[in-house]
Amino acid sequence: MERLQKVIARAGIASRRKAEELIIAGKVKVNGKIVTELGVKVSPSDRVEVNEIPIEREEPVYFLLYKPRGVISSVSDDKGRKVVTDFFADLKERIFPIGRLDYDTSGLLLLTNDGEFANLLMHPKNEIEKVYVAKVKGIPSKENLKKLEKGIQLEDGKTAPAKTKVLSIDKKKQTAIVELTIHEGRNRQVRRMFSAIGHDVLKLKRERYAFLTLNGLRAGEVRELTPHEVKQLR
Ligand code: URA
Repeated sequence: MERLQKVIARAGIASRRKAEELIIAGKVKVNGKIVTELGVKVSPSDRVEVNEIPIEREEPVYFLLYKPRGVISSVSDDKGRKVVTDFFADLKERIFPIGRLDYDTSGLLLLTNDGEFANLLMHPKNEIEKVYVAKVKGIPSKENLKKLEKGIQLEDGKTAPAKTKVLSIDKKKQTAIVELTIHEGRNRQVRRMFSAIGHDVLKLKRERYAFLTLNGLRAGEVRELTPHEVKQLR
């Protein structure tokens, strides 16, 4: 048995607080009857409707995908390109990615059917550490890397301080491999941060998300998170 507001939140319809508001407002039905109390618990066999629409009651599932390049972080694509859920073709639960990686970015991506968990992880106040490895054109100066470390002005505002580490330099080809650690998750953030200091990103991979790494996986491979990992992320 689970609290009604938790079941609604997990279905991705609303946050727990919003779900409480929906219940109080008389928008929620359990087995056809409106419920306006907050303490009510429901079992998996109870039928829950929000605004007359039945909600999906699936067991929550949590996966880690090593996303290859050339895949869309979405559940469908109108141009018919490969999407991240194609790696889960036999799964009956309807999962979606938690955040996104660009089409050309590879690396660690989480997927779930638990809307509340996804919202929690994507909330900026959660400040989850993400480690990216970028191959950039040109060799960034110490001065410019310091700018990323301090926070740099982008069109959607200044970034929070980042950590940088130059992993290697190819003087002949004039490229560098730089590790960048950030807590935010803005659209194309890493590419835009390097671009702001004058370097195009040629290749980008997310190596770590919180304490999770790609260890033991090859591109295109998937593993389920352990219950302990899910608990640690909450
Ligand atoms: N930053 C980017 O620029 N691209 C990604 O895919 C992820 C972070």
